[in-house]
This record gives sequence, C-alpha cells and structure tokens, in this order.
Amino acid sequence: MTHDPNCIFCKIIRGDIPSYKLYEDNHVYAFLDISQVTKGHTLIIPKEHYKDVFELPSDVASHLFSVVPKIANGLKHALEPLGMNMINNNGEKAGQTVFHYHIHLIPRFGKGDGYG
Ligand code: 5GP
Ligand code: ZN
Repeated sequence: MTHDPNCIFCKIIRGDIPSYKLYEDNHVYAFLDISQVTKGHTLIIPKEHYKDVFELPSDVASHLFSVVPKIANGLKHALEPLGMNMINNNGEKAGQTVFHYHIHLIPRFGKGDGYG
C-alpha cells in the first residue's frame, strides 16, 4: 500500500486524523468533507496515495468509480437532494488543495443551498 506520511488523507485512512466515515472497503474510503459546501458534501478516495487523475491507475479508478453510485444513492436516500454534483480537481491551477486523488459528491438542494 502506498502512503505519503505528510498527506492529510493518508492520515485519515490510517485513523490518525478523525473523520466521519460513510463507506469503506479494501480499496476505497468515503467521508464527509470538513468544510461542507452543502449538507452531505462527501469525499471519495482510494486508500493508496495517488496525487491526481494523472497518476491514478485504471484498475484503481475502475473500482473507485464502481462504488460511487452506491455512495451517491446513500446520500440521496438520507438527504433527498434535488441533484448532486460530482467534481474532481487535478492540479493547483484546477483548484486542487489536497494532493491525494479525491472525488467530491455535493448534494444540491436548489436555490440558496450555498453552492454555485
Ligand atoms: P480539493 O480542493 O483538493 O478538491 O478538495 C480538498 C477538500 O478536502 C476540501 O473540500 C477540504 O474542505 C477537504 N479537507 C481538507 N482537510 C480535511 C480534513 O482534515 N478532513 C476532512 N474531512 N476534509 C478535509
Ligand atoms: Zn495520501
């Protein structure tokens, strides 16, 4: 398993930093974003450290994407949003601030939900 000892998400996976877990399997971890842009804002990450989509192996991406609908449907049933954004930033110039690949799921509740 590849880890970066200085990476905040690797620390979350190891349990060194607390997080609110929504889903976990051998290769994927999903948890609430610490700074929720809307209620239920979730991050989905591979357990291995890959900086961005350019480093992400296809088999890791394939498994990660295979569990996204399950997590999205969990949020849908729990929160009954009107829609959901799925966002992934790669590189500082694209808005990435944590350099461990992650997908944002952002439930949307209509006008005034605070995002976009
Ligand atoms: P990015 O800007 O890289 O696409 O997204 C990074 C996200 O990680 C941000 O939405 C930020 O709020 C979230 N984040 C940063 N540090 C932590 C943390 O320690 N715990 C959790 N749960 N989320 C974090
Ligand atoms: Zn990491």
